[in-house]
Amino acid sequence: SWAQAVDAQEAAAESVSLNLRNTKDKAAQSLLNKLIRSNLVQNTNQVEVLQKDPNSPLYSVKSFEELRLKPQLLQGVYGMGFNRPSKIQETALPMMLAEPPQNLIAQSQSGTGKTAAFVLAMLSHVDPNKKYPQCLCVSPTYELALQTGKVIEQMGSYYPEVRLMYAIRGNKLARGMKLQEQIVIGTPGTMLDWCGKLRFFDPKKIKVFVLDEADVMIATQGHQDQSIRIQRLLPPTCQMLLFSATFEESVWNFAQRIVPDPNIIKLKREEETLDTIKQYYVLCNSKEEKFQALCNIYGAITIAQAMIFCHTRKTAGWLAGELSREGHQVALLSGEMQVEQRAAVIERFRDGKEKVLVTTNVCARGIDVEQVSVVINFDLPVDKDGNPDNETYLHRIGRTGRFGKRGLAINMVDSRMSMNILNRIQEHFSKKIEKLDTDDLDEIE
Ligand code: ADP
Repeated sequence: SWAQAVDAQEAAAESVSLNLRNTKDKAAQSLLNKLIRSNLVQNTNQVEVLQKDPNSPLYSVKSFEELRLKPQLLQGVYGMGFNRPSKIQETALPMMLAEPPQNLIAQSQSGTGKTAAFVLAMLSHVDPNKKYPQCLCVSPTYELALQTGKVIEQMGSYYPEVRLMYAIRGNKLARGMKLQEQIVIGTPGTMLDWCGKLRFFDPKKIKVFVLDEADVMIATQGHQDQSIRIQRLLPPTCQMLLFSATFEESVWNFAQRIVPDPNIIKLKREEETLDTIKQYYVLCNSKEEKFQALCNIYGAITIAQAMIFCHTRKTAGWLAGELSREGHQVALLSGEMQVEQRAAVIERFRDGKEKVLVTTNVCARGIDVEQVSVVINFDLPVDKDGNPDNETYLHRIGRTGRFGKRGLAINMVDSRMSMNILNRIQEHFSKKIEKLDTDDLDEIE
């Protein structure tokens, strides 16, 4: 129909503009995840390890005590509420703290403890009595650098002799200035200026170089090159550490240029499954009918917290408005909001201040809100060619392994086209999606 064509056009426009903003979007997504994350992401997979020297014994630790950290740092770690190393930290920390230092490339999804790990490594390696930079950390954006800086400050809060400097735009220093801080964190451009032409510190004295969020980094024009130029100013004895949430070929090529003779560790994402999910569909004839059906089941879905996904911002805005008019308290998460605003909305939702969150397919990509047990696909997820987006469907409603609580997914179908999409999703996962009669709700309760 005409309305569907317009919808498809709008969604395509949104997805094109997001592609153009791909870089910004990746950085924003990463920042958003950091802002909303309050715990470790659990993962039962085995860490895969590729050692530079396969004959050397492989150490992993089950406690922070085993690492023989400085007491101030152990206090810092416990002060942050950490009891034991995370999966990735068990292997990464002994490698990073070994003598002589070892180079490391590590990959694991966001929230698994990478930042905490390299922050601890940097803090362990600095000599607080020496008043010049010894550790560098580069991040893809100003905001991400600030977030990591906060972790350094928090973990180092019992170790005040160690000081931190931000090499970020807007932080202008007087010519000829020499930094006294032991750790410098910043973005590649400013960092390169500071250790290159401006000579605010001597790169030859750097002992640890951390490159964070390598996948976001290489998506930004110029960052890859700047990072490599920084790396070349460092002494060959400098420990090089690189972290990434994902590892496509391009990230891997970059990683190998930055980190010579690395140990490599990887932690696979936990598989998601639909096994513990009850999936339904509701058959309607229009957007208005879908809204009516949603109202009919509203009481049942708001026993738990629910997320409702729409194809476009316009539909999401409309739906949130209609639900509010019915007297329901709903939150709206939309692509035009600033990252901080989005984080605030997600936080309120996570704290249970609203039971229902309406959002667009695109906007919610990559965000995990763990406690959601009801997902409504007001529009089914499709890719830019209008084919079923199975991956998004799975990520949205699936649960991971044994942490998975039971969940409920309701798909709203309003045309032959969307029925076809639903059938294809059903076939793809070989999991039946049952028809739900919204006038008779006994089934889902
Ligand atoms: P990543 O860098 O992989 O995204 P973070 O280091 O930011 O992961 O850790 C994710 C969250 O888990 C943060 O809130 C962090 O404080 C917390 N965290 C990290 N390591 C531990 C640990 N060993 N025990 C408990 N919580 C941890």
